[in-house]
Amino acid sequence: MAAKRDYYEILGVDKNATDEELKKAYRKMAKKYHPDANPDNKVEAEAKFKEVNEAYETLSNAQKRRMYDQFGPEGVQGANGYGGAGGPFGQGGYYSYSSGFDDFGDLGDIFSSIFGGGFGSRSSKSNNGPKKGADLKATIEISFEDAYLGCEKEIVLTREETCSTCHGNGAKPGTNVETCNMCHGTGTITQVQNTILGQMQTQRPCNNCHGTGKIIREICDDCKGKGTIRKQAKIKIKIPAGIDNNQTIILRNEGEPGERGGEKGDLYIVVRIKKHSIYMRDGDKVLCDIPITFTQATLGSDLEIPMVDGRKEIYKIPEGTQTGTKFTIKNKGFKSVNGNYQGDFIFTVQVQVPKHLTKIQRDILLQLAKTMNEQPPIKKKGIFG
Ligand SMILES: [Zn+2]
Ligand SMILES: [Zn+2]
Repeated sequence: MAAKRDYYEILGVDKNATDEELKKAYRKMAKKYHPDANPDNKVEAEAKFKEVNEAYETLSNAQKRRMYDQFGPEGVQGANGYGGAGGPFGQGGYYSYSSGFDDFGDLGDIFSSIFGGGFGSRSSKSNNGPKKGADLKATIEISFEDAYLGCEKEIVLTREETCSTCHGNGAKPGTNVETCNMCHGTGTITQVQNTILGQMQTQRPCNNCHGTGKIIREICDDCKGKGTIRKQAKIKIKIPAGIDNNQTIILRNEGEPGERGGEKGDLYIVVRIKKHSIYMRDGDKVLCDIPITFTQATLGSDLEIPMVDGRKEIYKIPEGTQTGTKFTIKNKGFKSVNGNYQGDFIFTVQVQVPKHLTKIQRDILLQLAKTMNEQPPIKKKGIFG
């Protein structure tokens, strides 16, 4: 596909054009290229006319214009959600990206800041075609251990569900649903208007059937004709081992029901991981501090290291271990969510200096001090080292 011409160029205006200037330029261009004004050159004029309309539609909308300036035409198309099935994520391109448990959190934030509306906002360009249900967003908080081991959780959320009494058509069971005779079931009314640019066709939702194309004579008592009922739903979520803070799990079709045969929306669950009192996380690594006594540091020792899964690992530290020394236990860190590899467990020893001594301990230490009672030499650095 050929690269699209710049919208500002199409309208012949400056990038800093005011709304008023845009409007003027649009009128001029639309008049010039209106197909009725170009009977000898209809096809080309029509293409130009469309281009002008598209440019003006975008630039006259402050939000779209901002996005266009930032991202070019693609940014704007994504936001429009053409085709009805789009929503904030366009035509599903990003769903496949996140079919696993990829880091979707940041992306979600980026998208909601670009599109302003966040999840569930969508344009309803076509009134009578199938429309995907709204996406829902929920947050779940899990423990550090649950993130390490993986877990299964249940969340309770309130969402619209298809009314089981009328199966979603909104009519009292046993009564007929008729096709709207104003719009003949299309849900839209087409009007022809005379404007300064000639005749223009506009479409608006049918008032008679509120854009549904159907007339319900007797409404369902349970959902009052809406076809859906607000209900609490319990939803089980499998959280994979290795999930990181703010990652999002997507459950397809756990959102709200679609309309006119459209598929259900999706449920986005943002996972938050609670802080741990002992462990920290750095990517796929588990970090922790292990306090040791100065005799353990001096003489060496078999340390008992508490692992995240609750087991203990015996780790031998050598004689003369200095405070702040890091030791690595291989493959005891976080798994990657696809299970392909596992990070390391790294602990840092912190030598504790005793604050209170018993009489015996003090006597022993005094004896020890006599054998080594001089200050250690100051270590030289740099060129002297
Ligand atoms: Zn109902
Ligand atoms: Zn109608």
